[in-house]
Amino acid sequence: MFDVIVIGGGPAGVTAALRARELGAMVALVERGKMGGTCTNDGCVPTRALARAARLVRDAEQFVDFGLVGEKPMVDFAALLSRTRNIVSRVHEKKHLQSHLEQEGVTVFANVGDARFIDEHSVALGDRTILQGEKFILCVGGHARRLSFPGSEHALTHSDVWSLQRLPRQVVVVGGAATGCQLSSCFSAFGAYVHVLEVAPRLLAGEDEAVSHGISEAFRRRGIAVTMNIGGIERIEQQNGSLRLTYLYEGEVRQLTTEAVVMTVGWPGNVEALNLAAASVQSERGYIVVDDFLRTTTPHIFAAGDITGRMMLVQSASGEGVLAGENALLGVARSSQHRASGGDPPTRRNLHGGGHADRAIGGFGTGVPHIHRNRGPGRPAAQSRTRRYPAFATESNPESNRYRGMGARRSVKNSLTAKIASTGGLI
Ligand SMILES: Cc1cc2nc3c(=O)[nH]c(=O)nc-3n(C[C@H](O)[C@H](O)[C@H](O)COP(=O)(O)OP(=O)(O)OC[C@H]3O[C@@H](n4cnc5c(N)ncnc54)[C@H](O)[C@@H]3O)c2cc1C
Repeated sequence: MFDVIVIGGGPAGVTAALRARELGAMVALVERGKMGGTCTNDGCVPTRALARAARLVRDAEQFVDFGLVGEKPMVDFAALLSRTRNIVSRVHEKKHLQSHLEQEGVTVFANVGDARFIDEHSVALGDRTILQGEKFILCVGGHARRLSFPGSEHALTHSDVWSLQRLPRQVVVVGGAATGCQLSSCFSAFGAYVHVLEVAPRLLAGEDEAVSHGISEAFRRRGIAVTMNIGGIERIEQQNGSLRLTYLYEGEVRQLTTEAVVMTVGWPGNVEALNLAAASVQSERGYIVVDDFLRTTTPHIFAAGDITGRMMLVQSASGEGVLAGENALLGVARSSQHRASGGDPPTRRNLHGGGHADRAIGGFGTGVPHIHRNRGPGRPAAQSRTRRYPAFATESNPESNRYRGMGARRSVKNSLTAKIASTGGLI
């Protein structure tokens, strides 16, 4: 029997496993597919490659202002996507996540299909292996929501974008949150005509109004059409090689003809395959319910990262992974409340710890997760390597128990956890 079984090999799972191992536990990590999770394979890393190309195109628009002479570059979309895939492979080659974990003594089961609870202490893997654990940390992340309406199968999600054969001339992006805004901005820079449809009254509705306003203005300047307050999508039909999308706006039926529709309308947790009922773990609206100590409704089972539906960023997933590892082994002691510390003006020193940031805005950062540690009451969290994402403040009061001192005694700051948990850190 393992002391801890971590399910999910993304930023939350990797850090949870390493932290638990550092504390001396016998740890197994189960990943159904490739190690690295959404960030490396399908999220930050490929998106960052597109965003970098978009930035280069936009920079070229300013050539003349700087006395530079040259044509605006054309985008070879197939070549760009091929580079994007290469970058993902290079991240895998550089990181060797599995071997790093194994060197640290974590037993890794990768590419084994979905883990599924049989009872409160056992999981069956897709390859029929059965593992037993004293404690569990569920770090299974989420997936792009697909809405169900007539013709919805004609719509793409962000994951389908990586395998497009060419740049669509027109793209309707349904959903103006972080991923929708990032993709809209990239497609537009590459020369596609982009129309964003959003149910909420503003883009990036979860962010400060000033941020929404800034993004809307930037989109307007770049010729990206935005329709807010839509009443929903009615249907998508194929018509002479194009798509006709019908939506509701103020009680009216409206239509758009387009080459591609990309849906970015939410990120529910991967709860289905886990068979949570067998372990009496509760989920609500697609996410695992946790308390502030990241403990689920079953006390020996913890959850961290996107699956908790709380923050959905790499950095918070990594931080939660560490916290869940510690709370699982040291006794429930530290809480995670995801409060941005705010207050001070955003200086270089405190940018990571206050204010607002998200995938879209932070989207121009590296996505490098870093572990934030409170230095003590009233003191700022340690300096982050990335300045683009909010830190979450935690309250530290670790108890002693059998795991403390059993494993490696390196501080987290210098540990492998901090060094290699950064699954998106190459670009
Ligand atoms: C397009 C896009 C762009 C993004 N950009 C950014 C960004 O710029 N900055 C940022 O901070 N965040 C960004 N994110 C969010 C970031 O990727 C996630 O917050 C982060 O990956 C969450 O980590 P996680 O470990 O919780 O989950 P994941 O990284 O999703 O890892 C979960 C892992 O669990 C595995 N799994 C699922 N179910 C099972 C099962 N039953 N058994 C075994 N394994 C299972 C999955 O295969 C997966 O590998 C972006 C996301 C997307 C989609």
